[in-house]
Parts: sequence; C-alpha cells; structure tokens
Amino acid sequence: MEKKYDFLIVGSGLFGATFAYRARKAGKRCLVIDKRSHLGGNVYCENTEGINVHKYGAHIFHTSNKAVWDFVNSIVEFNRYTNSPVANYKGKLYNLPFNMNTFYQMWGVKTPEEARAKIEEQKADAVASLNGREPANLEEQALTLVGRDIFEKLIKGYTEKQWGRKCEDLPAFIIKRLPVRLAFDNNYFNDRYQGIPIGGYNKLIDGLLEGIETRVNVDFFDDRAHWESVADKIVFTGKLDEFYGYRFGKLEYRTVRFENETLDMPNYQGNAVVNYTEREIPYTRIIEHKHFEMFGQTVYDCPKTVVSREYSTEWTEGMEPYYPVNDSRNNELAGKYRALAAQEPSVIFGGRLAEYKYYDMAPIIERVLNLEI
Ligand code: FAD
Ligand code: UDP
Repeated sequence: MEKKYDFLIVGSGLFGATFAYRARKAGKRCLVIDKRSHLGGNVYCENTEGINVHKYGAHIFHTSNKAVWDFVNSIVEFNRYTNSPVANYKGKLYNLPFNMNTFYQMWGVKTPEEARAKIEEQKADAVASLNGREPANLEEQALTLVGRDIFEKLIKGYTEKQWGRKCEDLPAFIIKRLPVRLAFDNNYFNDRYQGIPIGGYNKLIDGLLEGIETRVNVDFFDDRAHWESVADKIVFTGKLDEFYGYRFGKLEYRTVRFENETLDMPNYQGNAVVNYTEREIPYTRIIEHKHFEMFGQTVYDCPKTVVSREYSTEWTEGMEPYYPVNDSRNNELAGKYRALAAQEPSVIFGGRLAEYKYYDMAPIIERVLNLEI
C-alpha cells in the first residue's frame, strides 16, 4: 500500500528543516514532527521585549563554504555581526581571541615582535619540559601555545568550569582551534563569512519549512509503530541510543543551564559575549542577546535588555543533551549504535544527536546539501 509521505522527518532542527526543504524541492511529500512545543531545534529564539533570545545558547553562524553561505542567504539575509568576545578576569578586561590587543592588555607590548618575544619567554619552561614530545593534554598544549600568564588568567578557570575537569585531564585538541594572532584583530573566527539571520534564526527555520506539513509536541517514541507506518523513509535527528532502546547503555552529554534576566536598561555590557575566566565566578559567560542583531543607535532605541548567565554542568535525564562527551566509554558505545544504524536501509540518521557528534550549524547544512535525495 502506498504510504502517505515519502519522508517522516523526526526533529525540526537545522538538519531536519534543511532536509525537508530539499526534499520538497525534489517533489517529495514530507511530514516533520518535533517533540518540543516549537520548530527549529537549538537555534530557536524566543522574543522578549523585542529582543530575540537564543533559548538554547548563543548561536553565531560562520563558514568558509560559499555554497553553504549562498544557500542560507537564499532563505534569509544575514547581518554583519562579527563575534568578538571580551574576557573578564578579576575585573580586568581582555580581548579575545588571543591577539595583539590581548597581548597589549596583558603585558603592554605594542608590536608583533615584542609580543612574539614575550610569548617565547612565557612558554620557554613548558616547551623545555616537553623535551621534544607532543603536548599530552590541554594544559601542556595551552602552556606551549601562549605561555603561563594567558593560561592562568584566560584559559584555566574558564576551561575547568566549562568541562568540569582539570586542564591536565582534558584532550589537547580542545584548545588548538583557538586562534593566536599577531595582529590587532578581535574577530573570533577565521572563517570568510559570518553573521546572524536578519530578523533572527526563526526566520531561517520558517523559510526552510515553508509549505511543509509540521507537527509540534509529538514525540516519535510515544507512538513509534504509527510513525514508522506513515512514510517510506524516516529521517531521524533524535538521540541515537534512544532509537535503539538504550540496549547497550546510555550515551552521556554535557549541558548548559541558562539564567535569563530582563533588565531595565538599554545596554548592560556593551557586547554580545563576555567570558568570565576566573574559577571563583560560577558561570562561564554572560550573553547580552540584543547585540547579535542591534548595532549603534538601535541598541538604545530598545529600552530593555536580556542577559543570560551560562552554567556548564554534567547532563542528567530530563536536561537538554548539548555536547557529546568524547571519552573512550562514550566513543565506544556510540560506535556500537552506529554499526546498527549503518544497517538500517529506510532510516537516515543525521545531526548532532543521531550521529552523537558535535556539529556547528554550517557543517550540518553542508552535510544535508551533499545528500542525495
Ligand atoms: P537540534 O537542533 O538539536 O534538533 C533536533 C530536534 O529533534 C530537536 O528540535 C528535538 O526536539 C527533536 N527531537 C529529538 N528527539 C525527538 C523525538 N523523539 N521526537 C520528535 N522530535 C525529537 N553552532 C554554530 O555554528 N555556532 C554557534 O555559535 C553554536 N553555538 C552553540 C551553542 C550551544 C549551547 C549548542 C548546544 C550548540 C551550538 N551550536 C553552534 C551547534 C548547533 O546548535 C547545531 O549545529 C545545530 O543545532 C544542530 O542541528 P540538529 O538538527 O542536528 O539538532
Ligand atoms: N577557552 C578558554 N577561555 C576562553 C574561551 C575559550 O580557555 O575565554 C577554551 C575552552 O577550553 C574552550 C575552548 O577554548 O573549550 C574552545 O573555545 P570555543 O569558544 O571555541 O568553545 P565552544 O564554547 O564553542 O565549545
């Protein structure tokens, strides 16, 4: 018997929504379901006092892939937001990523040559103690990249709060992707393109899902047999272990708790992102959402502001699963589930939960654009 839909898409995040968009263009019949009360997954924003509040954490779109950039801009235009976070260590402010502004603020050095000499001096002990071998953990990596002062003031406390583990127990690669620049350049990303959708991320999701049948407050697992019967193929973007009834055990995550506050002032911190890098302050950073979309006078035309303090914590059942934990137990477990998934002819597993993989937004879109539909 012919089924009603070609694709049942479980999850309306960027993976599901982009897949639905492409499938519709290819003339396929799609139904998108989501267990949350809204569409959009983790990029969803809630409007408070005229400000788009990133409900599941601050999202900044960045990519060097022109095809991905052109694709998202064909759905909604992007603004000129450039991420340039500031770090607050014991009340003193430093620019990020580590660049000439940071080195000037830290040591008073004014030229790249002075900065290079200072960094060499700062990292000399750590380099010597490695004795030619590769850095074995995040602490060694950071000390040999930027030296003692920056590690102590801008990395150690922040990283230990974010990951809930000591720097010497964390993998080196986490810190490798942070740029170190001998230029006065506070742009956090090296990518060619970045920005925020004009009007907010919900516009991107609405554009992707235009003309597609969607249902919210519907959990696939509440009536699995029914949902499996409605379409020829399933696109599954929920949790991989849940799809298999947790038969090998549960995958773990780290999560973030947000404390949101609406303030009766137009401008609280003058920047979208301020990191608090000392261990003693319990949150990792404060996000002031309006700065993602309002610049210059428009910040003051909107009399209120919304800030979110972010607390990084271990995940337990009932919390939002955000970041996969890349330790050997979880990697091994995920491998077992992936082996089952690879043998599923009528299910496409995609996205950060179904692949148990940390993905930025642009690589998610790139992946869907490269799928054959
Ligand atoms: P999701 O957005 O999680 O969507 C999955 C959807 O599936 C959800 O809506 C969920 O409700 C639904 N679902 C799950 N199970 C079921 C079920 N059983 N039945 C029905 N529906 C179900 N990327 C960047 O590029 N830049 C950033 O600055 C950035 N910041 C981030 C900050 C945080 C705190 C986090 C966690 C991620 C960040 N990301 C960022 C990554 C970005 O969020 C992801 O790339 C993107 O959201 C992944 O989309 P997805 O569709 O895979 O997953
Ligand atoms: N980091 C840090 N101090 C900062 C910002 C970042 O030490 O002020 C470290 C931290 O270990 C973090 C890593 O750099 O995990 C990568 O930072 P990024 O902002 O890319 O991490 P994300 O929050 O996007 O995972």
